[in-house]
Amino acid sequence: MSYVVTPPAVVSVPVTGRTERFPVHRIYCVGRNYEEHAKEMGFTGREPPFFFLKPADAIVVADAGQTASIPYPSLTANLHHEIELVVAIGKGGRNIRAEDALTHVFGYAVGLDMTRRDLQSDMKKQGRPWCIGKGYDHSAPIGPITPAAQAGDIPNAAIWIQVNGVDRQRSNVSKLIWNIAETIEHLSAAWELQPGDLIYTGTPEGVGAVVRGDTMTGGVDGLTGIAVKVA
Ligand code: MN
Repeated sequence: MSYVVTPPAVVSVPVTGRTERFPVHRIYCVGRNYEEHAKEMGFTGREPPFFFLKPADAIVVADAGQTASIPYPSLTANLHHEIELVVAIGKGGRNIRAEDALTHVFGYAVGLDMTRRDLQSDMKKQGRPWCIGKGYDHSAPIGPITPAAQAGDIPNAAIWIQVNGVDRQRSNVSKLIWNIAETIEHLSAAWELQPGDLIYTGTPEGVGAVVRGDTMTGGVDGLTGIAVKVA
């Protein structure tokens, strides 16, 4: 096969304990999936889950023991961190039932849904798509994927992020409005999930701005943490 332009490289994420990597197909993100974060964004209560996507090449790998670097993005003056549990899909499917959903999970990772909040807010006000606020280049840092069998008790794991060593977000995965299995059920009713899909499951309360020079360190108990510097 030959191509008229150079085909893009396969985006991939390291897997803890394996030399083979996880190839990224799509990045799905869940909006407002922790009650206290929904409230801080001006919403209340449990609404059906909703989704947006980031391009696969928005991934920035923050490998174990290293500090990854992301550039401060263009067009924004309000870059926000959102620490999230990421689910890596190993087996695809449509209309997956919640009771079967965890058999589709390859593993878990710690991710950051970096957000140009000012642009997202403008788009919300105008009823326009969030892409420019959410799906920009380098907007999806992620740590290594831990295979599910080696991960800790993820449904009850602490999740947190510090900026320059100071707590910003600290919660627990048990506070997800739509848990991992329910999220997969809803998502797979709308799209056919494929091996290689990543799901950023939403962020708890405490989102806030970072500026050039800040270092974010985040984690989920039972998974390899991440460190990302804003260059
Ligand atoms: Mn998010």
